[in-house]
Amino acid sequence: MSEKIRVRFAPSPTGMLHVGNARTAVMNWLCARHYGGDFILRIEDTDTERSTAESEKSIMEQLQWLGLDWDEGPVKGGKYGPYRQSERLKLYNENADTLLAENKAYYCFCAKEELQEQKERAIREKTTPGYNGKCRNLTEEEKDKLRGQGNAAAVRFRVPEEIIVLNDLVQGEIRFESAVISDFVIQREDGSATYNFAVVVDDLSMNITHVIRGNDHVSNTPKQILLYKALRGKIPKFAHIPMITGEDGARLSKRHGHTSVAEFKDAGYMPEALINFMSLLSWSSESGDEILSVDRLIKEFDFSRISRSPAVFDRTKLNWLNGKYIRSLDDKELVDGAKPFLEKADMIENDSKRLERIISSVKDNVETFSDFPKYASIFFVDKIDISGEKERELIKSASSQKVYAKLLNQLSDLLNGKNPLTDKKILTIDIFQAIMKKIQEETGIKGKDLWMPVRVAMTGQMHGPELPKILEILGVDRCKLLINAVTVKEK
Ligand code: GLU
Repeated sequence: MSEKIRVRFAPSPTGMLHVGNARTAVMNWLCARHYGGDFILRIEDTDTERSTAESEKSIMEQLQWLGLDWDEGPVKGGKYGPYRQSERLKLYNENADTLLAENKAYYCFCAKEELQEQKERAIREKTTPGYNGKCRNLTEEEKDKLRGQGNAAAVRFRVPEEIIVLNDLVQGEIRFESAVISDFVIQREDGSATYNFAVVVDDLSMNITHVIRGNDHVSNTPKQILLYKALRGKIPKFAHIPMITGEDGARLSKRHGHTSVAEFKDAGYMPEALINFMSLLSWSSESGDEILSVDRLIKEFDFSRISRSPAVFDRTKLNWLNGKYIRSLDDKELVDGAKPFLEKADMIENDSKRLERIISSVKDNVETFSDFPKYASIFFVDKIDISGEKERELIKSASSQKVYAKLLNQLSDLLNGKNPLTDKKILTIDIFQAIMKKIQEETGIKGKDLWMPVRVAMTGQMHGPELPKILEILGVDRCKLLINAVTVKEK
């Protein structure tokens, strides 16, 4: 592509950054970075009742956290600014005036009640609802008279008769008959611009080359194409990406779990994992690979690989991906990610080396950073809670008790310097394994029957992190204490 690609992400600041919108941002950003183009952030805050400064701030924070940096936008600026629609009213007025002067738009004096009545009648009579064109051909005298009576006027676009063809980069060719689009309002009575009008004026004046957005906007596109033509502007290319649904096929909502980027952040997800996951919602790599770094995503971005089918938000896949990303971190990054979650759960370890070992010992079991406290708690509690019925049965069995007795002896020997393999009084992974081998030889108990009782004594659970690693961190004294706690005392 020879022209400089310019794409925009245009959120309405009426709430948190939803994953659906974030995914639109991701696709725009990848497109811009792939083609060496510009990624523009535009705040669509014309709905003054619902738009808030906090929402705008939070959307920008979440974009930054995801690593989606923009080249032009509010605060940052740029030569096509301002980048908030509320600051661009003059431009909308000028463009509305141009359309009025060229008779491509007209003043409409119809009262709200009258329009509402028309709509209801159309529904009752099962005809197409839409404006009946009453003010389409008012004479200057009629307009003056209506104005004189104190009637406020909106500006309506005069929809020309034509077939509108949308060659969507994702959806393919879609044809619309303009006959089903009635003259629509571009400027309300209070002078504010409507969505379709403001978007076209902005996309035109900001030189946007590609509009990538959710396919819930397909129905707006014919109106927008007509406006581009009326304003003699170059029509951008459109790519309408499929909406995200839950696994039940319904549009993704709160009911399906976390939906905002901030919630995912707070729940311990990594931005890289979310970016990877969101990219795969309607796009796939030719290689079939699922774990793709941001660099690869940028390199491989291609409109032709965006699918038309609904994008199902598969949380199991996201969790799996996030776990993979967590496990790919080095020890320092792991600590940086997990420590805040441990601290929130009152699990404070001031010995940084020990903290690093604790975190690393449980990393294979977690999917998100918020899972760390669950698995690491065994290193912070005084007493292990063994409440499961099966677990309680297991620790009481004769075979388990035999293992415990032997293990206690072995640990005492270790402390007394009587372990033949070492004179150090510490429980390394190798030493622990040697001890377990010895117990196996002496008791004939092996496999699960040998290891599981020890695991339950140390963690209270039948599943979890690698046992030798845990024991190495716990140390000999703590292990003895925990084994003592599950030993059935003779009466
Ligand atoms: N503000 C619109 C939205 O959030 C943007 C629509 C567009 O991208 O044209 O849905």
